[in-house]
Amino acid sequence: MVELRAGDVVPDHFIVEHAGARCMDQRGNGACVALDPATFLCTIYADRPQTCRDFNRGESLCRQILATGRNLTTLERSQLDQPAASAS
Ligand code: SF4
Repeated sequence: MVELRAGDVVPDHFIVEHAGARCMDQRGNGACVALDPATFLCTIYADRPQTCRDFNRGESLCRQILATGRNLTTLERSQLDQPAASAS
């Protein structure tokens, strides 16, 4: 689940509150509601949340998070700003 940060502007109907945080809602299969299920493209790509901008497809931290199926911690989020070698 993608937690929204201050400054993220996405359509209201895509937002859900989860554990007190504003997040992108998910479909029943866990996919983000902004992901077009036919094209597998982000329908709000130009305005996607900062968390989505911080991840590069297939990078090590992305793979680690996907493997555990959990949300990003504050520490992990801060590591996104570090060089790749110190992020693992
Ligand atoms: S890039 Fe788009 S579809 Fe993917 S998680 Fe972010 S908002 Fe959702």
